[in-house]
Amino acid sequence: MSNDINKIKNYLRVVLTPDCNLSCYYCHREGASSRKNIFKKQDFINVLDAANEMGFEKVKFTGGEPLKSPYVFDLIEYSDKLFNDVSITTNGTMIPYLSNNELEKLSKARVNISINTLKPSRYRKTTKTNYHNDAINGLKIIKNISKTKINSVITTRNKDEMEDLINFSEKNGVTLKFLDLVNYPSEFISLDDIESILIKNDFKKLGSNSEFFEYSKGNAKIQLSDRLYANSCKNCDYYKCSEGISFIRVFYDGLTTTCFNSRKNYIQPNSSVKYIKENLQKAREEIDEKCLSV
Ligand code: SF4
Repeated sequence: MSNDINKIKNYLRVVLTPDCNLSCYYCHREGASSRKNIFKKQDFINVLDAANEMGFEKVKFTGGEPLKSPYVFDLIEYSDKLFNDVSITTNGTMIPYLSNNELEKLSKARVNISINTLKPSRYRKTTKTNYHNDAINGLKIIKNISKTKINSVITTRNKDEMEDLINFSEKNGVTLKFLDLVNYPSEFISLDDIESILIKNDFKKLGSNSEFFEYSKGNAKIQLSDRLYANSCKNCDYYKCSEGISFIRVFYDGLTTTCFNSRKNYIQPNSSVKYIKENLQKAREEIDEKCLSV
């Protein structure tokens, strides 16, 4: 484990909306499927301003499907001026339908596209939609204008596609990140098992940047998450959850958390930047409490 607690305390994840155009069987909607969109654009901007004033360095936009948020493009453009690293995790299926102006704003972020399979029939079973082609086209469009990564959740259902996914990402010149699915024990394949498969296939471990371990073979680059399981994780109902402690989340209804088993502070809509900073500070203190004895 090489996670650096200060990096976690300076990494903000903004969950823009619970809405999504797919219906993946494993989706946890960041733990918040039943809540409503409340924040307006100015609320998100105030959160970004507060994070900037507190020295946060990284911001990631997620959902639901973040491209379904009416504010996403303006918020990416705004964040680009404030933070060293701006990224978004999307299913990619809406990218082929974006305007040039929207694409230009999206390209200011690093874009992670979730593609678990190259088989349309398997995609249909996983997402309950026929948008496989759109996801692949989305990747092909965005990789030319933005730093792009493919996220693939590996389970017993698609383990047989690992090699194809590696070849596909190499052919498209993008990094591939494999993720595990801890909350589905019957289909679970651990990151350790995935690492063994990579090593068996002559991938070399390059090291870690505190968020992920990186492996390479030829031009292919693979990443596996490097998670921080805090001391408090051992007594947690979710132990071990799929995320570990790796960032502070602010949701579309103001909920502010550090992990699935976090204390639940709420930032009210129309709050001042000063008040938001107090909430983010509480989250930072919770990370200290949970993590210092790791
Ligand atoms: S939910 Fe939080 S406390 Fe529980 S295992 Fe995950 S990171 Fe640890």
